[in-house]
Amino acid sequence: MPFQIFESEAKSILSPVSGFLAEAGFTHSLTPARNCTYGCSYCYVPTMRVQGGLRKEDWLHWGEFTTFKNNAAELLSRDLRSDQIIYCSPLTDPYQPAEAERRLMPGILEAVIASPPRVFVIQTRGPLILRDLGLLTEVSKRTTLRISFSMTTNRDDVRRIFETHCAPIEERWGTLRALTDAGISTSATIAPMLPCDPEVLVDVAVRCSSGPLVADPFHVREVKRSGATTRAVALAICAHHGWEAWLDPVFQMTVLDRMGCRARAAGREFGNGTKGFNMLTR
Ligand code: SF4
Repeated sequence: MPFQIFESEAKSILSPVSGFLAEAGFTHSLTPARNCTYGCSYCYVPTMRVQGGLRKEDWLHWGEFTTFKNNAAELLSRDLRSDQIIYCSPLTDPYQPAEAERRLMPGILEAVIASPPRVFVIQTRGPLILRDLGLLTEVSKRTTLRISFSMTTNRDDVRRIFETHCAPIEERWGTLRALTDAGISTSATIAPMLPCDPEVLVDVAVRCSSGPLVADPFHVREVKRSGATTRAVALAICAHHGWEAWLDPVFQMTVLDRMGCRARAAGREFGNGTKGFNMLTR
């Protein structure tokens, strides 16, 4: 599917956080684009609507286009402070495929190098991040940088169903391994937890990353009464494939326990929810 790429001028680029990210210990979020062409079936962002800074066309056509904030690096240079703990990004993937053409992240990383915050966390699943390895290495010399790499399952057949436009699982493991081998602090983020073999997934995550493992199951209204939640597309996929258990809070806890046991046995920290994401801020 051809993606449309738009550009805009933003009024601000760093947003003070509240809710989940604030509880996890972050002070600001950085979102270089509106909408995300990965268009994952479960993505909670379009369910946030205006609370996620979206326009109606974004949540109605999630994943069909993206709008880059052209002046992101310039605004960031103005607003960076040494006490900030920044999460990039809760509302888009900074290394979505269109970034290959737009190249917004190199300018953002250069701004971070020039005026480093206390902690800079990049949340991505994009192999494109390796393009910026040199700049990431420079950032890691100036501040605490952590790459939180989304690894949602060990099964590529599952990945193809829920995350059609994302890179294959093996390519993502290779990316994470390359970042780790380059000396960058990395975490595998199993969020959301898709149907998988929990022990196999944790074993590979331990081999490919250097830091704590973070996991989070699908958000379900049974335990999360309000706010962002799993998109209806993913709920329908679970029903179609007989994967409803992965939406069941009791089953989800069982899988999280199994993952935690496996990670800790390998000497690795493991957490979920705000406690898990808090480990990224250290
Ligand atoms: S990569 Fe992240 S922000 Fe983009 S669609 Fe998937 S879950 Fe949503």
